[in-house]
Amino acid sequence: MLQTFATLPFSNPDGGVWKQGWDITYSPSRWTTDRPLKVFVIPHSHNDPGWIKTFDRYFQDQTRHILDNMVQKLEQHSKMTFIYAEMSFFSTWWSQQNDATKEKVKRFLNEGRLELPTAGWVMTDEANSHYSAMLDQLIEGNNWLFENVGVRPDSAWSIDPFGQSSTMAYLLKKTGFKNMLIQRVHYTIKKYLAEKSNLEFMWRQNWDLSGKTDMFCHMMPFYSYDVPHTCGPDPKICCQYDFKRLPGGKIACPWRIAPVPITDGNVAQKAETLLDQYRKKASLYKSDVVLIPLGDDFRYDKPDEWDNQYNNYQKLFDYMNAKSDWHVEAKFGTLRDYFEALANREKVKRGERPDNYPILGGDFFTYADRDDHYWSGYFTSRPFYKRMDRIVEAHLRAAEIAYSLARIADTKKSIFDSDKNMAEMLTFSRRSLALFQHHDAITGTEKDFVVVDYAMKLLKSLENTKKIIQKSTEYLMSDGNDVFTLDETRQSQDSIPEKQIIKLSSANERYVVFYNSLASNRSVIVSIWVNSPYAIVKNEFGQIIQSQCNPVWTNNEQYSTDQFKLLFVVTVGGLGMVRYSIEKAGRGENQLHSLAKIYFHSSGNNYQKIFDYQSDRSDVTLENREISIKISRNTGTLQEIKNKLDDITSQVKVEFIYYGTRGTKEKSGAYLFLPDGLAKQLSSPSVFVRSTKGPLSSEVNSFMKNVEHKIRVENAGDMKNLGVEIENIVDIRSEQNYELGMRIVTDIQNEDNEYFTDLNGFQMQKRRYFSKIPLQGNFYPMATMAYMEDKNKRFTVLTGQSLGCASLHTGWLEIMQDRRMKQDDNRGLGQGVLDNKRTPHRFRFLLEKRISSGTNAQSTGFASLTASKLSDDLIHSIFVLPAKSSINSPQIKHFVTTLNQPLNCELHAVNLRSDLKNRNNYALILHRTAPNCGFKSRGLFCTPGGGKINLGKLFSASYHLSEVKTTSLNLLWDDKPIEFNKLPVEIAPMELEVFKLTFSS
Ligand SMILES: [Zn+2]
Repeated sequence: MLQTFATLPFSNPDGGVWKQGWDITYSPSRWTTDRPLKVFVIPHSHNDPGWIKTFDRYFQDQTRHILDNMVQKLEQHSKMTFIYAEMSFFSTWWSQQNDATKEKVKRFLNEGRLELPTAGWVMTDEANSHYSAMLDQLIEGNNWLFENVGVRPDSAWSIDPFGQSSTMAYLLKKTGFKNMLIQRVHYTIKKYLAEKSNLEFMWRQNWDLSGKTDMFCHMMPFYSYDVPHTCGPDPKICCQYDFKRLPGGKIACPWRIAPVPITDGNVAQKAETLLDQYRKKASLYKSDVVLIPLGDDFRYDKPDEWDNQYNNYQKLFDYMNAKSDWHVEAKFGTLRDYFEALANREKVKRGERPDNYPILGGDFFTYADRDDHYWSGYFTSRPFYKRMDRIVEAHLRAAEIAYSLARIADTKKSIFDSDKNMAEMLTFSRRSLALFQHHDAITGTEKDFVVVDYAMKLLKSLENTKKIIQKSTEYLMSDGNDVFTLDETRQSQDSIPEKQIIKLSSANERYVVFYNSLASNRSVIVSIWVNSPYAIVKNEFGQIIQSQCNPVWTNNEQYSTDQFKLLFVVTVGGLGMVRYSIEKAGRGENQLHSLAKIYFHSSGNNYQKIFDYQSDRSDVTLENREISIKISRNTGTLQEIKNKLDDITSQVKVEFIYYGTRGTKEKSGAYLFLPDGLAKQLSSPSVFVRSTKGPLSSEVNSFMKNVEHKIRVENAGDMKNLGVEIENIVDIRSEQNYELGMRIVTDIQNEDNEYFTDLNGFQMQKRRYFSKIPLQGNFYPMATMAYMEDKNKRFTVLTGQSLGCASLHTGWLEIMQDRRMKQDDNRGLGQGVLDNKRTPHRFRFLLEKRISSGTNAQSTGFASLTASKLSDDLIHSIFVLPAKSSINSPQIKHFVTTLNQPLNCELHAVNLRSDLKNRNNYALILHRTAPNCGFKSRGLFCTPGGGKINLGKLFSASYHLSEVKTTSLNLLWDDKPIEFNKLPVEIAPMELEVFKLTFSS
């Protein structure tokens, strides 16, 4: 795709009735008796699980009627078909149906007149969503469907997500899907592919050299999935074939020619006109089988609409099909019917590549639907919830794993069978997070009150998953009940969490358990809030370890005198739990405890007595054994990173910038980014800069207009020492039509302004700045990572939340932080984005030296091993479980190891998911990364071992594994059991694999 971008002019000439295309001509002799034009008209209804209305409101007002009507009308009209995708709604509806209705639905599915394509919980966003959440929502939807209705989908339908990711193609392929359909792709790309009849192709992963990931993909050619843009190139004509718009109805045709009912008198002319559109559309494709979607958002909610579409179309079909010299066979069909007919015509099996069909790699970002209207605003809209999404995701994953580990260990079946509540909490959390992957949820493109509705569910999920983690840890680590309390709480869905203060005493030790949800060993600096500046921290062996006390600031210059941050290094095994103890100490009593020192670099003073402080008007250096960084005392921002181990230094200047909104009629909104020109530097008249230094962690805090910026260097003793921690708390509530970004200016000489951003945290995609594309079109989603490199070094930015990013200049990287838009951008939302919150963002910078020359020629790139491990660490923080003050040491074990040996470096445990219906079954989902070997890995706590895993020896002796099967990503297509005890299994680079594990009790 990148090469295509490089060659296209992006000139947007007027194509006539098909504005973004050309005047299509064809020869009627193309179709013959032997090779007639096959037309499949596919009635569909696109139901957003939340957008202008909440999920519940939509269900009550529209969706349930749509599905009720579906049952009645498919019964009534024997040739009618229907496709419907979103299982979140469908499952709600299903639960309210009687057995007779359920049987009817099953019959329609059997007859092939009803299809439930993709059948994800939602139609997932493909820009901001993480692959694990995209997969979770697919598992949730597909498993619900199989358990309740007994079908497994194999055609995918993604008509509304705002740009399409190759990660989705991969997930579908590995799930067992045979074909997919996509719609929202840049109009220039559509035209380019249409000109060569290449709108159908095998979508291949960039990293795949064998073709095993090839997924048959159909791209829709025109502007929209509504009826005016699906029958052919001329919307004015197609609109006349949308019989919901018959005169007297609620909606009309904007082209001002209304549809009329098809009668014996007009059918000849009407059929001929429609066939002309079908033929024109068909000439953009190779097979002479043409797919005509017939639907729109929330369509078919009234019985009349079903009858009008059915009766009028059936008349047209009957007429067309009877005209033998027209060589056409038109009928209602499903997506599967279409792909089946295409495969038959091309003499291949469905999903296989016909001879002359192209192979395509890459993704379809950034989407533009018309002119310079690039949909890059939504990469950043409502960033508070994009951050919350990742936090809930990390909690859900950790809860799934802890719950599974405890449930397997609970061989007496005491706790985890009786506690139905936990399974319900888990299901609720799975479904809430799945719901939020919807393309109007995580995208930030919904009404204010709909955001709140999602967020309440996310908050509840956060509470649920915390409880599950507590209960599971309690089972594994103690004999007690009600052992733990919360480490932090949120006042409301839109507040930043508040830490719980642990009250220390010198008489009793307080216990804190740490749970590592990653399958590799880790050393992490934790920060526990306590009520004493002096403390003694002991590890699981009772040894006193080094600790540091930092102040809790109440304003720029003052700190609390009864709350303190206690920092120490926790070392914990993969999927393990460990207990540390803390007690109060007297001043100077503990030689291994230090109080941080405070420096004021601009103004500032302090008269409190606890921490030493001084004024320091020079620039700041923070360092550990591995790196040293320079920070300007004037701006409080990073200037330079030195990687001491690699002996390289790079300029890394951080600036904050902002964009306004252009003055024309069409302006930026929730979807669109339409800036008023280049970014302007954010200037703060005076920046307050302060640093806090200690042996374990040192940081600089600066307070600018709209941003609190924090830079931290840690001394945990592992690879984390290489990362520079960045935290921004952004608050732009006082601005209007304003977009704030963090720009990083480095001296990296990235050739051709090439850089890499990730797709859904799954893979890296090469990007290049193009001056022929407007600035806003040069922004891409950054779900977890971006990097740029030259011959000598690579600079990687890791992110803890999905945001938009761009490299607009050699050596630059710009990451948007928040956006506040006064107005709607005419894509149906009907409002601006003004519900901004105080939003915390987390990033990590990494500078690495290239030790072997890499080639830039490939369109794919790979994160270094250190970067990928740092990213996992950033997303999956250690879980902190403080024990209640009444709990004493015999009640909690020192540590728990659940793994016999940690996973090797290249493997990531995506999940260990309990089958809630079957007590002994678990799905272990693994991802093998493919790290770029051009960089030295340092401080890793794992050992390289490729993709090999010995499942028979993975879990500790108390877990009795009795059977292992490989299965599809949606857990529904099992293979035969494998001999897991004999040989290790090997996962190929970049692949996701699922193992169904059965444990004997
Ligand atoms: Zn939608």
